[in-house]
Amino acid sequence: MTTQKGEGGRKMRMCDACGKHIQSGTRVSRAILCRTCLPDVLAEVERIRAEGKPTDALVIARRLFRETHSAGSYLLRDIPEQLWTAAKHKAVDEGLNLRELILKALQEYLG
Ligand SMILES: [Zn+2]
Repeated sequence: MTTQKGEGGRKMRMCDACGKHIQSGTRVSRAILCRTCLPDVLAEVERIRAEGKPTDALVIARRLFRETHSAGSYLLRDIPEQLWTAAKHKAVDEGLNLRELILKALQEYLG
């Protein structure tokens, strides 16, 4: 959890995922989260747990924080499996990696 001294020495808490000041957050293991970020972090915890990997809500929260605050980056969750499989096949066919394929598709779509 991230703490900051607020006015008058009162401790202000910050959401570990978005950095907003919060009055009362929800604690998930070592992380403290606002109402908006809680479902995102929990979904990610579930997803990682389903892969049989160890989960750490604080690590996930900090990653979300970095993603939110870094320009030009966007994490896309829950891509329909069929679409993702088709994208991977297309990437192989065209000799592109997935990043190149996605950027190309976006560029073509936006004209
Ligand atoms: Zn938040």
